[in-house]
Amino acid sequence: MVKICCIGAGYVGGPTMAVIAFKCPSVEVAVVDISVPRITAWNSDKLPIYEPGLDEVVKKCRGKNLFFSNEIEKHVAAADIVFVSVNTPTKTSGLGAGKAADLTYWESAARMIADVSKSSKIVVEKSTVPVKTAEAIEKILTHNSKGIEFHVLSNPEFLAEGTAITDLFNPDRVLIGGREENAGGLKAIQTLKDIYVQWVPQERIICTNLWSAELSKLAANAFLAQRISSVNSISALCEATGANVTQVSSAVGKDLRIGSKFLNASVGFGGSCFQKDILNLVYICECNGLPEVANYWKQVIKINDYQKNRFVNRLVSSMFNTISGKKIGILGFSFKKDTGDTRETPAIDVCKGLLNDKAQLVIYDPQVPEAQIFKDLSTPKFDWDQLGSTIQITEDAVAQSVKVVHNAYEATKDAHAICILTEWDEFKSLDYQKIYNNMPKPAYMFDGRNVVDVAKLRQIGFIVYSIGKPLDP
Ligand code: NAD
Repeated sequence: MVKICCIGAGYVGGPTMAVIAFKCPSVEVAVVDISVPRITAWNSDKLPIYEPGLDEVVKKCRGKNLFFSNEIEKHVAAADIVFVSVNTPTKTSGLGAGKAADLTYWESAARMIADVSKSSKIVVEKSTVPVKTAEAIEKILTHNSKGIEFHVLSNPEFLAEGTAITDLFNPDRVLIGGREENAGGLKAIQTLKDIYVQWVPQERIICTNLWSAELSKLAANAFLAQRISSVNSISALCEATGANVTQVSSAVGKDLRIGSKFLNASVGFGGSCFQKDILNLVYICECNGLPEVANYWKQVIKINDYQKNRFVNRLVSSMFNTISGKKIGILGFSFKKDTGDTRETPAIDVCKGLLNDKAQLVIYDPQVPEAQIFKDLSTPKFDWDQLGSTIQITEDAVAQSVKVVHNAYEATKDAHAICILTEWDEFKSLDYQKIYNNMPKPAYMFDGRNVVDVAKLRQIGFIVYSIGKPLDP
């Protein structure tokens, strides 16, 4: 029986390993983490992350061939394949601060693997890492290996939060990078391929050299984020000219060379990966003497920041340039629908912008706990570009000006304006007539996700601002 251990039981480690256990009954999978609460949650009825379909997969395998544990060293020592899926955040101090990936967690995992291993192992980069990380990992492992053989593979994860289980069941591709130039490397690639081939069609499993695999993940996230910034930049022009971004996106996306996916204008992208991975790419370009390329990718993040600021400014200027003391109902806080993840959610910047203008916020999100919202709003944001313009709100100010409630009707009652910041399906079918009746007039709707039927809301009486759509006549 092949034994797998995954270090890091987060948004990637948990779901990917649950799916491997589900699809490969003859493989034993242990997911380990330094966090005791996280492992306790994985072993309980309330999993630490919300993903449609995840509960069923975990319940089917947990205790049979899927285990969650804090006994890291024991499970690593016993494994044939060790996935490393620890966090790789942006460095906040020292060389490369604000851009470079912080590989502290990765390095400590690699040293521990070398330390506890008594049999040869395949070590798989599951985390997103800078290109050439495998070379550093190989050095750490071989210099500390006591004669044990390690083969490092890159197997970046392309799942999207909110659709992780369907993405893992039916991936567009599985990418495995390894040392194709030697027999040991080829054998390691084949061993990992033998796992995936149990449910992924052969033609979707791509094998490359290590550096191509590492760079492909950064490039894929940069391309995805770039599409959002591209359509968001066009949304600003739509508002200025009377064009409608939904119509423009649809017309543009019909071109098969462009394609229609990922062309929705919004208040901006979020999530733990896009900004971090582009900054990482920018840093790698700078280190390789490619400042023009670095500047090109930097612009993707700048447009994203611009879009969030533009949204806040539009709201304030539409409401007679003052929102001081006004109640704003916030619908949605997670960075996208079907996840409770708030990392880098645009809602944080938008809410901070509104609080900075002294608004009173009443926030509802179907999955984000109240404590998380309070924590996010009072945590200082690291300014990646040293622009000096990021807004910091104190804990006291958040406590005095923010209320978190349990449904959309409560959030919007008596609100001067509504902001939709996450595209949760339930916001499409709210009773907007009832909501309108419970708001002071004029009643404003600022739809940052193009969720509502603008014509219908205008008919009810709302003044509607929807990203990239013609403004109220
Ligand atoms: P996460 O923060 O949810 O999980 C990482 C886990 O690793 C944490 O639970 C942490 O406690 C644990 N950890 C850190 N150091 C450890 C150590 N030495 N030993 C044991 N456990 C340790 O992060 P995530 O969202 O799962 O992302 C992990 C990696 O995958 C990142 O590199 C990220 O860029 C990449 N990735 C994320 C996504 C996504 O959608 N979240 C998608 C693809 C790739």
